Amino acid sequence: MKHEAKYGVAIEGGRIECRLCPKLCKLRDGQLGFCKTRLNEGGRLVTTIYAEVTGCSMDPIEKKPLYHFFPGQPILSLGTKGCNFGCIFCQNWQTAHRVDAPSERLLPEAAVELALRQGSFGIAYTYTEPLIWFEYVLDTAVLAHERGLKNVLVTNGFICEEPLAELMPHIDAANIDVKSFDPAFYRRYCKAELEPVLRTVERVRPHWHVELTHLIVPYKEEAAILDDVRRMRDWIADELGPDTPLHFSRYFPHYKLELPPTDEGLLARAREIALERLEYVYLGNVYADDGAHTRCPRCGALLVERSGYRAVVRGLEGGACASCCRRVNVVGA
Ligand code: SF4
Repeated sequence: MKHEAKYGVAIEGGRIECRLCPKLCKLRDGQLGFCKTRLNEGGRLVTTIYAEVTGCSMDPIEKKPLYHFFPGQPILSLGTKGCNFGCIFCQNWQTAHRVDAPSERLLPEAAVELALRQGSFGIAYTYTEPLIWFEYVLDTAVLAHERGLKNVLVTNGFICEEPLAELMPHIDAANIDVKSFDPAFYRRYCKAELEPVLRTVERVRPHWHVELTHLIVPYKEEAAILDDVRRMRDWIADELGPDTPLHFSRYFPHYKLELPPTDEGLLARAREIALERLEYVYLGNVYADDGAHTRCPRCGALLVERSGYRAVVRGLEGGACASCCRRVNVVGA
């Protein structure tokens, strides 16, 4: 469904510059942007995916993954198509890179009603990149807040400052993908830039509940990968705070990248390094109890027990460890 898009600015030669994300596409009449969802139509910028939903289901919040935000609760999850990244290892390429993927119309009012009917505590904008769904996410999030629901983004964090400021008050939590701490990786494997992602994370961290996901792709020597992990760990500890949850995820071959899956030993070593300065470090796409549960950073008591996407809150009382009373960064438990 076409809908007027925000952040289109007329520039020379009858073109429009889209200032939603740092790609800053300059579009001639009839031209689509890199994300294939924003179009210069006769001199005005339109989005072609407003209310176009390709995925809609009640998912455990752990699947996003968010482990410290309403643990154990399902959330209505919505996704669309298109992406402003070009990751050659994309796990959702059938919708992210196929704008002709089948979709159904779900207007913001209907999405909010559906969430309420399903007994969801909120709406997660997920599966593909929600920031290019900007107008729909904004309209739906405003309505959702009015009805007492939470709004959650699962995102690559690639957005310009002005639209981010507009979205800021309407989002409660986000899982943001920091795909690598190596700028060359972003350019070579994602057709994107690292710096704007880090700026987004730093800006939203004081306002939203934020967790980070880092997919470890074995694209270079293990020692060099672990050096990147150390630099990312230090940036998180210094700029965001050691209580920021970090999820390492195991890579499997997808789409156009055919490297072997990440060695589980490498994931475990990355977690050990991260735990030197961070309080909550998890492993995803791998079976590991140690990397699944939430424990008190002070006394080690089990706070949230997980098995797959199932989570049971065990040792939390009023946002603190029930054993030693240390405050922990868990919301809604
Ligand atoms: S949102 Fe899409 S059209 Fe706009 S700048 Fe980013 S990639 Fe280009």
